[in-house]
Amino acid sequence: MIWVNDVKDNYPKSNISMNQQNVRVRFAPSPTGPLHMGGVRTALFNYLLAKKTGGTFILRIEDTDQTRFVPGAEDYIMEALKWCGIQVDEGIVEGGPYGPYRQSDRKALYQQYASQLLESGNAYLAFDSPEDLEQVRSEYETKGETFTYNAATRQQMRNSLSLSKSVVDQLIASGEKYVIRFKMPDDEVVTDNDLIRGSVSFNTSLLDDKVLFKSDGMPTYHLANVVDDHLMEITHVIRGEEWLPSMPLHVLLYEKFEWEKPVFAHLPLILKPVGKGKLSKRDGDKMGFPVFPLRWTDPFTSEVSSGYREEGYFPDAFVNLLAMLGWNPGTEQEIFSMDELAEAFDLSRVGKSGSKFDPEKAKWFNHQYMQQKDNAELAEMLMPILHEKGVKVEVDYVVKVVEMLKERATFLPEIWDQGFYFFEDPKSYDPKTVSKRWKEGVPEMMQEIYDFLASYQGAWSPAIVKEDFSAFVTKKQWNFGLVMNAFRLCIVGAAMGADLFEICAMIGKEATLRRIQNGIQNIPV
Ligand code: GLU
Repeated sequence: MIWVNDVKDNYPKSNISMNQQNVRVRFAPSPTGPLHMGGVRTALFNYLLAKKTGGTFILRIEDTDQTRFVPGAEDYIMEALKWCGIQVDEGIVEGGPYGPYRQSDRKALYQQYASQLLESGNAYLAFDSPEDLEQVRSEYETKGETFTYNAATRQQMRNSLSLSKSVVDQLIASGEKYVIRFKMPDDEVVTDNDLIRGSVSFNTSLLDDKVLFKSDGMPTYHLANVVDDHLMEITHVIRGEEWLPSMPLHVLLYEKFEWEKPVFAHLPLILKPVGKGKLSKRDGDKMGFPVFPLRWTDPFTSEVSSGYREEGYFPDAFVNLLAMLGWNPGTEQEIFSMDELAEAFDLSRVGKSGSKFDPEKAKWFNHQYMQQKDNAELAEMLMPILHEKGVKVEVDYVVKVVEMLKERATFLPEIWDQGFYFFEDPKSYDPKTVSKRWKEGVPEMMQEIYDFLASYQGAWSPAIVKEDFSAFVTKKQWNFGLVMNAFRLCIVGAAMGADLFEICAMIGKEATLRRIQNGIQNIPV
């Protein structure tokens, strides 16, 4: 990309004054697929600024490029924001005084702005067909050069600047297709202040005459974006760094329209965990982490991409980890609720350089949230997972299981993986443990244990059972380890799990006896 980024590091970054009234920010995704986590972070930073300042957060769908339309993407975007707790004040569902909020529904209003630029001499009609353009491009290429449609070349192309008015009128009358291009000034320096980068300058001779309005009657991103930001009275344009090269064109458009500019802030990229460059879906596939907030099934290829939600991340943990990618509070604090984020958030604390995504750190955040969350809340969240497994259980029981297991768990489904035996009898017995622990004589020994426990009169509590049980084993002169391993195999089905007497107390006497009996009958010696 050709642009000059003349960052002066000592340039004072302008802060958003806290008493600034009516902050209006927008998240403006194109529904071309699932939202990348970088996109969610952009939405989040916009939302946080709105929340902090009592402003308005707008969701605008930028779907002017109909060739890139992907069914389901719009719903996906809205569902992802909802899952994250990012509340939209104005949008396609919420409505609002500046609607419609989907650009294809605003189609009729862009033409007049393109005409305005034509009249003021800042835009022109271009009749070059895609084939014409392809041909000049390849001619330049054979000379080892790159073709740019700009002040240096536009006279040799077929447009309303190079052709006479009568030819142009004739072409229009004969139905020739044309686009409207911006007439990029020659050799000017466009300078603007970016809230994150400070002063940024671009030389216009390195830029091209961008198409503003297409032959299909639709505006391009640039025109629609600037017109809508103006009409929707957007005060701050906060978006990803990949849009920085568009900034000079946008600044010039505001100038030519004689509109007041919003403040720009270009967020740094989220970088790959290893190597260089922007975090991509491929990195996630390779290293086994999601790059999308929610699971996404591609409507064309049926390819499924994993999502943070389905991987078991808590939405507040996901939001927290996203916020820390690029922003820092200037203190050691790492755990922030949405309200705390909104309070602490400040664009001047967003760094200029990209932040590496660390999948282990992402897990760490989820683990922290797991520990912080109320057991009852976690139990409620676990209930659907248990229902899916066909388990019918009271929530109070689940609360106790959560309490015992959450310390070692990072994701909620791990409670099932580590504690399934609290909810169901073993369906199978781990063959390795069987061959190691279920020796000759063991079934007879377990039968005696069964008889002992069946006639046991003491309280069915872990400590008491353990004490009496140990006394019984000692009296029998059995090897304690051998007994416990066989006992565990009957109760759990494998050599794993919580304290055995805790498990027996939780599942109750009846289930304990049933599992021992099942073990005796079903585990092969
Ligand atoms: N539609 C653009 C996108 O998909 C919006 C960029 C901007 O915020 O200006 O990201």
